[in-house]
Amino acid sequence: MRWTMKRARFQVSILLAIVFLMASLPASGADRPKNIILLIGDGMGVAHLTFSHLATGGLNAERMPVGGLIKTFPFGGMVTDSAASGTAMATGYKTKNGVISLSPEGDTLRTVLESAEARGMSTGLVATSSITHATPAVFAAHVTSRRMEAEIARQMAQSGVDVLVGGGWSFFVPHDIAGSRRTDDLDLIEVLKKRMTVVRSVEELMKLEGATAVAAFLASRECPSAKERDYSLADLAAKAIEILAGGSEGFFLMIEGSQIDWAAHDNDGDGILHEMKDFDGAVGAALDFAEKNGATLVIMTSDHETGGFALHESPMHSSRMVEPAFTSDRHTMEMVPIFAYGPGAGAFGGIHDNTFVGATLIEYVRR
Ligand SMILES: [Zn+2]
Repeated sequence: MRWTMKRARFQVSILLAIVFLMASLPASGADRPKNIILLIGDGMGVAHLTFSHLATGGLNAERMPVGGLIKTFPFGGMVTDSAASGTAMATGYKTKNGVISLSPEGDTLRTVLESAEARGMSTGLVATSSITHATPAVFAAHVTSRRMEAEIARQMAQSGVDVLVGGGWSFFVPHDIAGSRRTDDLDLIEVLKKRMTVVRSVEELMKLEGATAVAAFLASRECPSAKERDYSLADLAAKAIEILAGGSEGFFLMIEGSQIDWAAHDNDGDGILHEMKDFDGAVGAALDFAEKNGATLVIMTSDHETGGFALHESPMHSSRMVEPAFTSDRHTMEMVPIFAYGPGAGAFGGIHDNTFVGATLIEYVRR
């Protein structure tokens, strides 16, 4: 009798274990994206999106069926910077402001890009800042301060990332080269050349055919603003996607509209509009690919709101309809928008923490 009870309990335990195991497995392959494109509008809040929508009459973001809001607070604080929020979206863990993909205790946090590489996927980072700036850095480097851009460059050069597009050439050349911002003899361009094509202009990047790994340094420091440059983030996004889509194991690509934040810090409404249009163009390029491809998850979100930006009706006799207004020249603690399209998009609906983005993407990549 005792034996039978034990045996019955044992059988129930086995049954429960099987049920839990099945619940933890993906329901079906259909919900698992082969490719992931994560677009981050740095400093973009709901008002920034609204302003862009009012000016253009429509956003590519409207092509994405799933929407929600993201909580952005950092470890030990209320208002985040790009390093802490980026770390949450890249790794699934909160950290302190200024820290690049290390825990508050200093432990290395594995990023979604690194998990993708481990699975044999192709990976890429595109930004209009220096490629060593906080948001791209959190995906491929681990340092105690976002200001350590020379060390971030070294870690990026020695990582397995297949596509790097943005500014920041000055952090990759040795100190005796004019314009270098390194203090050592390391020639990271030579390190990169061992495993990828390296170019220094948009013209050279666009001409490349059949390349599977590319670093394109479009500026010594940051790229010109959207208003000043003669190429768009959509151009860069489309080229990066073309290069990465050549691999057979799928890809992870992060594309940042880096300078929305800078225009908002400057309380420059016109600048925000140019940067937002540029960013929305990149969202369009990602969706164009995803709609044809059918196995690509596209996520558009932000790391934090900048400017306490709001839109008011213009005073009578004003030449414009909308009056941009700012309550701050800094980051705020407002929730930020998230939109998703494609396999796995449904998870991003509703209100989530920024760590949910990183944790979910890593789960998708590991499956
Ligand atoms: Zn900022």
